[in-house]
Amino acid sequence: DELGEQQPGLVISRFGQHADVEDEAGNIYRCNIRRTVKSLVCGDRVVWRLGKETQHSINGVIEAVHERKTELSRPDVYDGLKPIAANIDQIFIVSSILPAFNADIIDRYLVATELTGIEPVIVLNKIDLVTDKEEQDRISKQLTLYKSIGYQIIEISNKTGAGIDNIRARLDNRVSIFVGQSGVGKSTLVNSLMPGLDLLTKQVSDNSGLGQHTTTVARLYHIQNCGSLIDSPGIREFGLWHLTPEQVDAGFIEFQPFFGHCKFRDCKHQNDPGCALVAAVDEGQINPVRFASYQRILASLDGNKLTSRFQ
Ligand code: GDP
Ligand code: ZN
Repeated sequence: DELGEQQPGLVISRFGQHADVEDEAGNIYRCNIRRTVKSLVCGDRVVWRLGKETQHSINGVIEAVHERKTELSRPDVYDGLKPIAANIDQIFIVSSILPAFNADIIDRYLVATELTGIEPVIVLNKIDLVTDKEEQDRISKQLTLYKSIGYQIIEISNKTGAGIDNIRARLDNRVSIFVGQSGVGKSTLVNSLMPGLDLLTKQVSDNSGLGQHTTTVARLYHIQNCGSLIDSPGIREFGLWHLTPEQVDAGFIEFQPFFGHCKFRDCKHQNDPGCALVAAVDEGQINPVRFASYQRILASLDGNKLTSRFQ
């Protein structure tokens, strides 16, 4: 037929009935998607064929999708959970000095990240704004708590450039996303990592009437001499979606050995007698700050769906 050999590809972006696929040489082709392909999102590894002739600037067809290593899904009114990106290796949870480092928000992002099985990295941005020793000590103490649980922390400043090399080193050879409250400096960080961003956009052959797809869909970007980044407004809302109490339980990783050991099966882990979590806090096995945060997150879920926009 009029198609080339099957070849491996990477989905840069999916929009409607089409997707932009990158071949092994780094060229991007706009493709149709075979009906047999049930789900296709940004970051998917695919098998596709180049068309011999370009029709309406569509010059390829995606025939199959490889199994996903990880999947980022968002709740959907119609579909339950709807995948929005695939094969993400790590989630950078970005926080800052101003807006102030907020452990409750970090914990909520950590819970959401743990549920995906994707590795979290905590970033503390704007360290240039730390002026006195007292503030430095207070922040160090908070960060030590996360380090003791086993989480990685990278302290940076977009302004002075401090720590940006550590971000680059972590990004290398991986697919990452940046999440976090608005104002913490995600856009600034992305801009400093990818000064050649519009170059990539121009590689997409588009002289048809189809128009450029909107930037609201997730898109994969290569950072020069570094790893890849998936970004979109939807991706940035990750972590703010509604959680169930069971999900919150599962997301506090250092609590796991203690669940199931409370005296009462329906223990609410508040002030219940014989609570194994409370005992673990008393014995220094669970940090009281994390336990308080856990209780606040649970309380915020009670009959209040607005917490899906927790800020
Ligand atoms: P986003 O909402 O997370 O994308 O945050 P932005 O990237 O828009 O940054 C919010 C504000 O913080 C902007 O005014 C930035 O200039 C500022 N900002 C970003 N990074 C730094 C930093 O390292 N230090 C300081 N002092 N300001 C920063
Ligand atoms: Zn309990």
